[in-house]
Amino acid sequence: MFCEIVSGARPAHVVFSDDVAVAFLDARPVFKGHVLVAPLEHYVTLADLPADLLGPLFLRVQRVSAAMPAAFGAQGSFIGENNVVSQSVPHLHVHVVPRTKGDGLRGFFWPRTRYAGDAEADEYARRLREALSG
Ligand SMILES: [Zn+2]
Repeated sequence: MFCEIVSGARPAHVVFSDDVAVAFLDARPVFKGHVLVAPLEHYVTLADLPADLLGPLFLRVQRVSAAMPAAFGAQGSFIGENNVVSQSVPHLHVHVVPRTKGDGLRGFFWPRTRYAGDAEADEYARRLREALSG
């Protein structure tokens, strides 16, 4: 499924893409602006990822996380990665979730919310793209 996003066969609100990874909005975000960072090449779990890709992948995770305060007025972020259990898509992806004190997050991945529509998701993606390029 994420290979289809990498190839462009499946539409997504992409916020960042280069020769290592693609970052796009989670369609069912914990909080709006929740991003998934996935390697272009197909690996299922973190254990499957070659060691020489670990640093480059997490450099992209770091960049997305660092952009969230400017993009969304967030105070911080949560970063998580599921392997097999609770891993809804069998293509390695790292969750980067904007956080603000008092946001009510109790569990890591629930409850989820929805974007009002494509226009709102476009706006969240645009804000993060700007913060990443700034
Ligand atoms: Zn894949």
